[in-house]
Amino acid sequence: MLHLTSHAERPEVSPWMEGVSAAEDAPSLEGDLDVDVAVVGAGFTGLSTAIRLRAEGLSVAVLERAIAGHGASGRNAGHLTPTIGKDLPTLALLFGKERASALVRLVETAVGHVEGTIRRHAIDCAYEPVGNVMAAVHPKQYAMIDRAAKAAREFGADGELLDEAEMRRRGLPLAFRRGWLERRGGILHPGRYVRGLRRVALAAGARLFERTPVEAIDDGEPAVVRTAKGRVRARSVVLGTNAWTPSLGRLRGTLVPLHVYLFRTAPLTEAQVASVGWRGREGVYTAHEILESWRLTDDGRIVGGSKVVRYAYGGGLCPDDDPAALAALQDTFRRRFPELRDLALTEHWGGPIALVLDFLPWIGRIGRRGNVYVCAGYAGHGLALASYAGEMIADLMLGRDGPGAALWTRRWIPMPPEPFRWLTVRALTGLFESIDRRVDRALEHGR
Ligand SMILES: Cc1cc2nc3c(=O)[nH]c(=O)nc-3n(C[C@H](O)[C@H](O)[C@H](O)COP(=O)(O)OP(=O)(O)OC[C@H]3O[C@@H](n4cnc5c(N)ncnc54)[C@H](O)[C@@H]3O)c2cc1C
Repeated sequence: MLHLTSHAERPEVSPWMEGVSAAEDAPSLEGDLDVDVAVVGAGFTGLSTAIRLRAEGLSVAVLERAIAGHGASGRNAGHLTPTIGKDLPTLALLFGKERASALVRLVETAVGHVEGTIRRHAIDCAYEPVGNVMAAVHPKQYAMIDRAAKAAREFGADGELLDEAEMRRRGLPLAFRRGWLERRGGILHPGRYVRGLRRVALAAGARLFERTPVEAIDDGEPAVVRTAKGRVRARSVVLGTNAWTPSLGRLRGTLVPLHVYLFRTAPLTEAQVASVGWRGREGVYTAHEILESWRLTDDGRIVGGSKVVRYAYGGGLCPDDDPAALAALQDTFRRRFPELRDLALTEHWGGPIALVLDFLPWIGRIGRRGNVYVCAGYAGHGLALASYAGEMIADLMLGRDGPGAALWTRRWIPMPPEPFRWLTVRALTGLFESIDRRVDRALEHGR
């Protein structure tokens, strides 16, 4: 039987947040406060917004339900990728070439922004600018890699097509046979990165209140953000609540919360490192419709997962502990890395992502007075764009044009209400799973 530690009930959230002590927690909000902007949620979106708005000279209070990094920002796999939309050919199909190019430029800017933030503020998050490879595990996926490579070249994305010989020359694990290398970005330790952003926000003068769930937002002038023991009056409110946004009664018709799962292995022995290769340490995600993600960590482990997504009827959040998801991930790990059959999986965890039907983030103003701002729905690729949310929100709030305009000037595709939403999500995930199953079965049967 598998014996893993689930992080569902632990304040550490995921192994990335190990060592975060309760002694560091910011106080909860008690009493009333007046600021220019109240930010709800202290993940990449909320913290990047606090940092940017402080630089604009605005007073900012950040209200976080648990602790900074408790959401997806402290649980993700740490692949910093220039991924935007479902894939580039679909992006071009939905929005045309001009907007697709603008979106590619936006996400590359966002990747550069993360790198600049890490450098400027000396955030010690084990960032390795090794790029990420979108990899085929079977020839059935080659066409998808080739289409992605062609579209990427057309839109000026920085990358390289890796044929099988080049994959082997680079020493990528044998399961990965052809790939599109995204040169921009790499891998990092998300826990240390989000806690670094928290430090930068505090140093910039943002006021942070942790263990302070927001219960209601009155979107008048001023807006009033209510918590159990206090209130914040603000000219504007920014929701950095991603998958929790619908539970605050906002964007219910747009955002679909989903749950995804990861695990971590024990550190690899020298012999295991030699057997797997992976000299370039590139992040890898597969060309499956519901991708698998694989990476090495700075302490010599593998973190892998995704592949399985869950949706709760009505748009609530799913449990972090899902034995069936874990069993599927463990099985996939054993198939992709047969050379590591003795390597133990030591922890697993899950986290919420949010999806808009066109796979692009939703950004804009809502509320009766238009003074509630939201940036959410990164489709599981928010490390770059959620970290850039602060720049985009500031541009929107201050009426400036900016790279984010490619997002906020597009037409939205609304989600249908329940039960049609459940049916839509089931139909989409069912279709994606059946495409992926065909690939995995062909691999299994050597076809
Ligand atoms: C398992 C997993 C793997 C992933 N891997 C990758 C990856 O490798 N690369 C990548 O680019 N992206 C990845 N992602 C996606 C990425 O982590 C997210 O897009 C990103 O973290 C979103 O940041 P955020 O700040 O918007 O949301 P979150 O980090 O989820 O933050 C939302 C915050 O709001 C708080 N909150 C919610 N409700 C309230 C309330 N009522 N009052 C106060 N606070 C509230 C929550 O506690 C939370 O801290 C992954 C996500 C998951 C779950």
